[in-house]
Amino acid sequence: MINKAFLKDCAEKFGVFLDDTALERFDIYARRLIEKNLVMNLTAITEPDEIVIKHFTDSLSVLSCVDIPAGAKIIDVGTGAGFPGVPLLFVRPDLNVTLLDGTGKKLAFIGEALDETGLRAETVHLRAEEAGRKPEYRERFDFAAARAVAGLSELAEYCLPLVKVGGTFVAMKSARADSETGEAKNAVLTLGGGKTEIKRFFLPDNSERSLVIIKKVSQTPTKYPRSSANIAKRPLR
Ligand code: SAM
Repeated sequence: MINKAFLKDCAEKFGVFLDDTALERFDIYARRLIEKNLVMNLTAITEPDEIVIKHFTDSLSVLSCVDIPAGAKIIDVGTGAGFPGVPLLFVRPDLNVTLLDGTGKKLAFIGEALDETGLRAETVHLRAEEAGRKPEYRERFDFAAARAVAGLSELAEYCLPLVKVGGTFVAMKSARADSETGEAKNAVLTLGGGKTEIKRFFLPDNSERSLVIIKKVSQTPTKYPRSSANIAKRPLR
């Protein structure tokens, strides 16, 4: 299915070494993704080399830009078909990974595919703004990561309430991260975020990506996250 040598090479460009076990897990996951995508809408990316670059390597870029200690608790907000959380788990089975999405069917797919790889992650079927008001998820994670879920201001309201003080929120963005980061500056501060760093890089197909890395420096005020309707209608500025 996937070209394992190509995946290994792509990952190594990001400083990530994949052993045979990890490569086999990626292969199983790609097979299941392509198969399931025939009967439900999981991804627009279905060609194996594209899956390697745009789903797997892009997800792994987080590991080359952010230092994640062993055993850290990480939540992937709006994981969809499992990105970036599943590739992170394949490379770092020591991590305590939670995959959250508002769509249960996608989480069911992830659960089945992960079973075949012998790894486990907690799946949470909630909207992020609901999870952020529940004590079992609020300020419980060392890291929150999200890709292709919402604009940064909205995304910060989904993700920062879930991160512990001292933890990190990583927003995976395309090349246009600068203006979004500027527009979201006040939202980030309001929600307990502090120092923000943007790391830019190119995927093996030369498409540009950015990671916006935000430290959580103080508790999120209890009025956040607001309801879905308020977040959408009145994004924090
Ligand atoms: N992160 C994956 C990726 O990059 O391939 C999926 C991206 S997909 C475009 C967006 C996903 O975010 C969908 O699965 C959707 O259900 C989920 N989502 C959007 N808003 C959400 C929210 N407020 N809470 C939970 N999930 C949300």
